[in-house]
This record gives sequence, C-alpha cells and structure tokens, in this order.
Amino acid sequence: MAEISQKIKSLIQAASEAKEKAYCPYSNFRVGAALLTEDDSIITGCNVENCSLGGTICAERTAMVKAVSEGKKSFKAIAIASDEKDKIAPCGICRQFMVEFGTDWDVYLTSNDGSFEKMTVSQLLPVAFKPSHLK
Ligand SMILES: [Zn+2]
Repeated sequence: MAEISQKIKSLIQAASEAKEKAYCPYSNFRVGAALLTEDDSIITGCNVENCSLGGTICAERTAMVKAVSEGKKSFKAIAIASDEKDKIAPCGICRQFMVEFGTDWDVYLTSNDGSFEKMTVSQLLPVAFKPSHLK
C-alpha cells in the first residue's frame, strides 16, 4: 500500500464504515463514501436504493449532496468503499457530479482489504462537460 497521511487513512476508514449504513435491498451491493472538505471535515454517504430504481442515489452523490446542503462546496478528496475485492469505481453520473465541484481533487478507489488506487476527478472523466461551458 502506498504511503498515505493519517487523514486519508481516516477518510478510507470512514468510507468503509459508511457502507454499513447502505440501504440496498434490491442489489445488496453496499457502497460507502467519505468526502474530505476544504475545512478538513469528513462527510459520509451511502447508496440509497428505491423501488423505483431510477430514484436510487449512489454513496458518492449522497456525500456530496450532504456536504453542499451544509454549505461545503470545496473538496479535497473522496474515498469510495464496497464489499468487493476489486477496487470500486464511481459511475458516470457520479463522475459528472464530481466535475461540478472541480476536476483537480482526489478520488480513492478502495477494495475490501483497504488497498486503494488514487486518481483525480479529471483522470476519471477527461474531456468533461463543465460548469464553465454554461457561461
Ligand atoms: Zn454513482
């Protein structure tokens, strides 16, 4: 495992713990996310499914929506955790949602043993449609 700061270790741990709160009766695919904001607070999210499947929201977007609703829109990193051995990657909608808040922040894709891969938002969604396109 690469050398990481205590803050990032805590972030990855928080994502794993957030997974315990997942509401996923249809897929049984638990996902947790933990967002590190500019002021160093950690805001967690989990996937929340709905019987009208289109109403489902991912863990990453849950965390970002919670942060924005608390007045925090500047992010340093997000960690994503699932029960899978393979590293969990954010879906396309979540990548687009991340771009809304900048492209130069870190995304930690973790596997169930705590190992991870660090990528930036711009690496995950290059050539993105950005807020600046609407100006
Ligand atoms: Zn997603």
